Amino acid sequence: MSLIDKALEANRNYAKTYNPALGKRPAPKIAVVTCMDPRLSDLPGILGLPQADLDVIRTGGPAVTEDVLGELVVSTRVLGSREILLLNHTGCGFTTFTDEELNAKLSTSTGDASPAPMRFFSYKDPEENTRAQIRRVRSHPWIAKEVPVRGFIFDVETGLLREVQPAAQQTAA
Ligand SMILES: [Zn+2]
Repeated sequence: MSLIDKALEANRNYAKTYNPALGKRPAPKIAVVTCMDPRLSDLPGILGLPQADLDVIRTGGPAVTEDVLGELVVSTRVLGSREILLLNHTGCGFTTFTDEELNAKLSTSTGDASPAPMRFFSYKDPEENTRAQIRRVRSHPWIAKEVPVRGFIFDVETGLLREVQPAAQQTAA
């Protein structure tokens, strides 16, 4: 049985004790942008915040793309999140290749080229990546200035978070 079939079976049990109050309009308090990596999945555990308070936006890396910016705008302007937390991590798979390398590898292994080179948003340094994310989010005119935007690196060996300070010229802005 595939995992999806197993999940469907489990879902029928889940629904038996499901609390319909959970279906109310969501009221997240904080938007968290983090990597698709499964080690970042226990956000209520890592952050000690209730699941219902977290608006979680996940991409590989994570990459703060135009889509992610749109989701942060909706989270803070429409849904009511009041803070933004950018959560990178050590040992990210997206630091193990460059976009060019992966494009070349997949073209070779599949025998097909992508219609256009694919953007994987690979990167090398989580600290630099976090700083660039803070700059990107902070500079968007639709992210209100009073919404804090802070970046962290989760250490997959220790479970600890470390804050990344934005570049100096940025704190002055
Ligand atoms: Zn990652």
